[in-house]
Amino acid sequence: MSEHCLFCKIARGEIPSRKVYEDDEVFAFHDINPVAPVHFMLIPKRHLVSLLEADESHAALLGRMLTLAPKLAREQGLENGFRTVINSGRGGGQEVFHLHIHIIGGGNIPPMVKRS
Ligand code: AMP
Ligand code: ZN
Repeated sequence: MSEHCLFCKIARGEIPSRKVYEDDEVFAFHDINPVAPVHFMLIPKRHLVSLLEADESHAALLGRMLTLAPKLAREQGLENGFRTVINSGRGGGQEVFHLHIHIIGGGNIPPMVKRS
């Protein structure tokens, strides 16, 4: 837990969010500024800054999150698939420093890397 972390506060219910899912370990909520018709975030409840800080001790939790993602995506109507994005560190464009998996889908999802 981190006192001033935005996503810790969301997971604790101290800042309102549009909840998608919650259990003992993880919390999922809609992105406040969606880039597609469905865009939500899956986070661990325990504060973890990013994948840069992850190690073997997080393997089970991260595995759980990745296998939970398709279940939650289907429940949000993304039967045909979805994009997962994990921005890690400033070099990865991360803005909120509590690890989160973006789950994005619906509408037109273009190739992520454009090659000319
Ligand atoms: P990242 O750039 O990967 O760190 O993503 C941070 C994401 O958090 C962005 O997509 C924001 O739109 C989203 N975000 C920021 N504040 C909130 C909030 N209060 N509730 C929901 N999503 C948020
Ligand atoms: Zn946090």
